[in-house]
Amino acid sequence: PLSGGPAIPEPIRQPEVKFNKLFINNEWVDSVSGKTFPTINPATGEVITQVAEGDKADIDKAVDAANQAFRYGSEWRRMDASQRGNLMNKLADLMERDKVYLASLESLDNGKPYLFSYLADVELSIRCYRYYAGWANKNHGKTIPVDGNAFCFTRHEPVGVCGQIIPWNFPLLMQAWKLGPALSMGNTVVMKTAEQTPLTGNYLAQLAKEAGFPPGVLNIVPGYGPTAGAALALHNKVDKLAFTGSTEVGRLIPQYAGQSNLKRVSLELGGKSPNVIFSDADLEYAVEKSHFALFFNQGQCCCAGSRTFVEESIYDKFVEMSVERAKKRLVGDPFNLNTEQGPQIDQEQMGKILELIKSGKSQGAKLLTGGAQHGDKGYFVQPTIFSDVQDEMRIAQEEIFGPVMQIMKFKSVDELIERGNKTIYGLAAGIFTKDLDKAMHVSQGLRAGTIWINEFDHFDAAAPFGGFKMSGNGRELGEYGLEAYTEIKCVMIRLAEKNS
Ligand code: ADP
Repeated sequence: PLSGGPAIPEPIRQPEVKFNKLFINNEWVDSVSGKTFPTINPATGEVITQVAEGDKADIDKAVDAANQAFRYGSEWRRMDASQRGNLMNKLADLMERDKVYLASLESLDNGKPYLFSYLADVELSIRCYRYYAGWANKNHGKTIPVDGNAFCFTRHEPVGVCGQIIPWNFPLLMQAWKLGPALSMGNTVVMKTAEQTPLTGNYLAQLAKEAGFPPGVLNIVPGYGPTAGAALALHNKVDKLAFTGSTEVGRLIPQYAGQSNLKRVSLELGGKSPNVIFSDADLEYAVEKSHFALFFNQGQCCCAGSRTFVEESIYDKFVEMSVERAKKRLVGDPFNLNTEQGPQIDQEQMGKILELIKSGKSQGAKLLTGGAQHGDKGYFVQPTIFSDVQDEMRIAQEEIFGPVMQIMKFKSVDELIERGNKTIYGLAAGIFTKDLDKAMHVSQGLRAGTIWINEFDHFDAAAPFGGFKMSGNGRELGEYGLEAYTEIKCVMIRLAEKNS
């Protein structure tokens, strides 16, 4: 989706922050405590603005508003399904209108290059809303030929009030993946945005109000995880909780559900995805795609191709070409249109990445390029490559979430499949080969929710995404993504007499 488009308009280098409060019942309000927290520009380490800090009391207010909007007979409940779709398309139109501003604000708050904010984050978010707008009046039930004098049918109803907790790596896009199916299916939402990146989520809320969503349908509460996030996941009047984030926090969410009202839970968590290069692959193409698979978004992708398995006969050449490519990677100002890599999200993440690089060195992997902070301002990390990586090393097992590539050598297909699955995760995998039989054999063997063949990070709102194993449960996007936001009601009617 990143190539062949029209010229990119210039960014707004200092986009004004227009909404820094909580969005509850279509109003902008201060937090009950009056507290605020800073959101920081990761390219400079400077505070952009203070944002109202939501906590339990604010979550309570937002959940009340969402329940009120979902009450039987409400405007939202009585709205035609097609009209829900119209509102979502209107929202997408407004995003289109404000595309440069949204992309600029995303780059300011998150640090990702404006080029990608514009072409990937905002564009894919718009497409996601439009895709789910189309589903609003198409997810219908069935009539079922049951035994006896009865008529049986199902209704696909909204689940109710949905709590949604999203991360900072793709703020607008993760919001779209969550709001798209939830609103399309007629749910109401309380969303907690990530504390590192609250700004674009807030702006989107204002656009939803402008589009005409009734009060209480969408509520946004910025705040921290253990306070606002936990309060949402523990709330007894929340029917469903959707979470995207670390596997560590992902372990807590079902516990919160169990401690409260057994709300439905869907999880999209971490990954350590294998990316496999066979010797018959187009080498130049595979090097470039594997570079993208790991370094895209500063390496901050849950599905990053972070274990690059290369067949023995081309290993040395692949490593050499990958190092050459990484050395050319342009790191710097996110608002420069040539920049390929911006800063990591914050000091803490940068620290984690540098610590894992240290472990790679001390466990015996070969550091070929990078390995340190880039510059001395902001949270930039040099594009880093390790070769001679062994399966047991921490850098081959733990999610680094940074621009650090691990290149490993393999000899046979069977060995590759076994080692590819030697991980607690199962989010995605890449396979590069011209041999379709081989590609199909390996794609069936790898236990992951998405397999890309001669491709990586190709996303589409129509194609489902989610994890095997500890990468999560449930699927987002596509028709499958509707399941998490619908309850199935079976209605049985007694008949005087049934005929075929
Ligand atoms: P990361 O390590 O990438 O920041 P997290 O899993 O910590 O990922 O964060 C993802 C989202 O989960 C954020 O919105 C964060 O505030 C939230 N979060 C963190 N801890 C908790 C928690 N204990 N309960 C609920 N949400 C949480």
